[in-house]
Amino acid sequence: MKALENAIVKHGKVLSDTVLKVDSFLNHQIDPELMQQIGEEFAVHFQKAGVTKILTLESSGIAPSVMAGLQLKVPVVFARKKKSLTLKDELYLAEVYSFTKKETNEISISKDYISSNDIVLIIDDFLANGQAVLGLMEITKQTGASLAGVGIVIEKGFQNGAKLIRDKNIPLKSLAIIDSLANGQITFRKEGSL
Ligand code: 5GP
Repeated sequence: MKALENAIVKHGKVLSDTVLKVDSFLNHQIDPELMQQIGEEFAVHFQKAGVTKILTLESSGIAPSVMAGLQLKVPVVFARKKKSLTLKDELYLAEVYSFTKKETNEISISKDYISSNDIVLIIDDFLANGQAVLGLMEITKQTGASLAGVGIVIEKGFQNGAKLIRDKNIPLKSLAIIDSLANGQITFRKEGSL
């Protein structure tokens, strides 16, 4: 997605060979017009999948998910990283290991918002080693819902998350794929190549 790649080039800060900071439009300050275009791209890609719910992870997955939900006219459920006061048997839970923060978080959603009748689209801001998406897939499995696919704003194609998802035959749509952050340079994958 050209507008997203342009925003990454203009505002992205390469913190290391593996970490990209995009706080000015996605992870701290949010660019609503860009988020709207991102939502439209996801909606076009998944419009025939019969999606009934979008599932994401707080906080940075919420903005792109809400914009996609607006287009697809479906609600958005975000998994929480912090424990809520809800009783554990009222929650679906999964463990997510963060390679960036080197810690394991328990993520959860209330059993009230996704049921076995739902068709779920998982959306997240970044795909690196795939742990966040695998956690959201585990939660989806517990709900009994079916999974339409996974939508990612920025995939780091040199890490192994995308392979983990594709190996399970789950449709994956990443709006920008970065093949390298080496030497402070952002290299995008050309459209059509895998
Ligand atoms: P994964 O679970 O796929 O290893 O990592 C995905 C999660 O880690 C995303 O939800 C995102 O919050 C965070 N993350 C991973 N890599 C990056 C990165 O390069 N930049 C930023 N801003 N977040 C990242």
